[in-house]
Amino acid sequence: MKAYQMLINNRWVEAAGGRRYEVTNPATGEVLGTVPDAGVEDARAAIDAAYEAFPVWSRMPALERSRAMRRLYQLIMDRVDDLARLLTQEQGKPLREARAEVINGAEFVNWYAEETRRIYGEWIPGNSEKHRIWVIRQPVGVVAAITPWNFPSSMITRKIAPALAAGCTVVVKPAPETPLSALALAELVLEAELPPGVVNIITTTDAPAIGQEFLTNRKVAKLSFTGSTEVGKLLVAGSAQQLKRVSLELGGHAPFIIFDDADLDLAVRHAVGSKFRNAGQTCICANRVFVQESVAEAFIEKFLAAVKALKVGNGLDAGTDIGPLINEEAYEKVESHVADARSRGAAVLCGGHRLTESPYDRGVFYAPTVLAQVTDDMKIMQEETFGPVAPILTFRTEEEVIARANDTTYGLAAYIFTRSLSRSVRVGEALQYGMVGVNESLLSNPQAPFGGVKESGLGREGGHHGLEPFLEYKYMNVMLE
Ligand code: ADP
Repeated sequence: MKAYQMLINNRWVEAAGGRRYEVTNPATGEVLGTVPDAGVEDARAAIDAAYEAFPVWSRMPALERSRAMRRLYQLIMDRVDDLARLLTQEQGKPLREARAEVINGAEFVNWYAEETRRIYGEWIPGNSEKHRIWVIRQPVGVVAAITPWNFPSSMITRKIAPALAAGCTVVVKPAPETPLSALALAELVLEAELPPGVVNIITTTDAPAIGQEFLTNRKVAKLSFTGSTEVGKLLVAGSAQQLKRVSLELGGHAPFIIFDDADLDLAVRHAVGSKFRNAGQTCICANRVFVQESVAEAFIEKFLAAVKALKVGNGLDAGTDIGPLINEEAYEKVESHVADARSRGAAVLCGGHRLTESPYDRGVFYAPTVLAQVTDDMKIMQEETFGPVAPILTFRTEEEVIARANDTTYGLAAYIFTRSLSRSVRVGEALQYGMVGVNESLLSNPQAPFGGVKESGLGREGGHHGLEPFLEYKYMNVMLE
């Protein structure tokens, strides 16, 4: 069993308090290793290191920053298999999904390695013959990043890539459940020879205390958070004191809408992928499947057959489609949604229970579940389930489904399946969501602005848009002699 250390100022260190905690495999309960359990003192040391490194990194010519980032990209790509394996072990998702995650995350580093060379300024006419107005863009400073367990690798690269490109330095606090992927990236940061303090990674079980330090330490300029809407709101409240810059990627409640003119086989394939990827533990996964009445029966038949064919198991086993849920708490939430739906009249077409026989008894495995006769008053229609449960609803008209899809406090991702271009445009524009997949369910692209409206977040990650939150404008009004 390996005892990992955390990375501060390009040095492997223990927590100042000497504490450690165990990381377990959610598929088997096996202890994978131990990591330092950092306290506030360690967060301060990491912030100090990032603060000292800021002048070095931010003033480095963009071309050199770009090269350093590309070295990091290349190292991640060279180690994809090892990183994916570790990710599956600590998080549970099938190996092929873990691989796809690592590669997608690496592509953010690659893309922003280029984008760092395109941080342009402006030259604006001044008010006299002698005046010149320049607008330059400068990095905000030290960025504190807090990331979740559902994408232990790409949630980190998605934050550090634009931050580093902008010229910021970073302190990352990964989720306590999945620190090993973070520390594996830390190893590559060292190998890529990023200057000391540019990326620091601290592992901890005490997120509230570290979060508080991030909010109150004046050396931290910005907080970038991905996680629950509940914690996101706490951080926004806490940021008021120092008007700390905050970017948030929060929960979602994605509608997945299938119109009567859709390619049903395509819709089924994407509905299964969107709903059951990562055992339904993604913020953009289909949470409400709306099918137009006239094709409902045909869709349900095909969908059900596809869901019944999914293989649940250890993510490391070839052929596994769905791994375990992250922990007991996750199971309780899923179970409470299914029980509530059942008690209000939903029909369970498949699944609807935990898998308890061997080898499932060592982890938290839930049978892929399809619910029909779902009504809008059910808990599953209001809250994010974060599990492998697909509630199916039917609708008659475009106007009706738009209204029902928008009837939520969330606004992250929505999906529509139709062969009509006009309908795609009409419905796509009317949906109150930050992202709309049209005949497509994969939305994480380095070149596109990922993010939500309403209570799903603030700001975007990806694209040239994703650089904005890490930059400030400065305008200089210059009078010549
Ligand atoms: P989830 O319920 O999916 O674990 P959370 O929002 O609780 O989502 O967790 C996302 C990240 O936020 C994790 O890194 C977690 O440790 C961290 N976190 C949880 N509570 C707080 C808090 N009060 N302050 C700062 N970070 C927190």
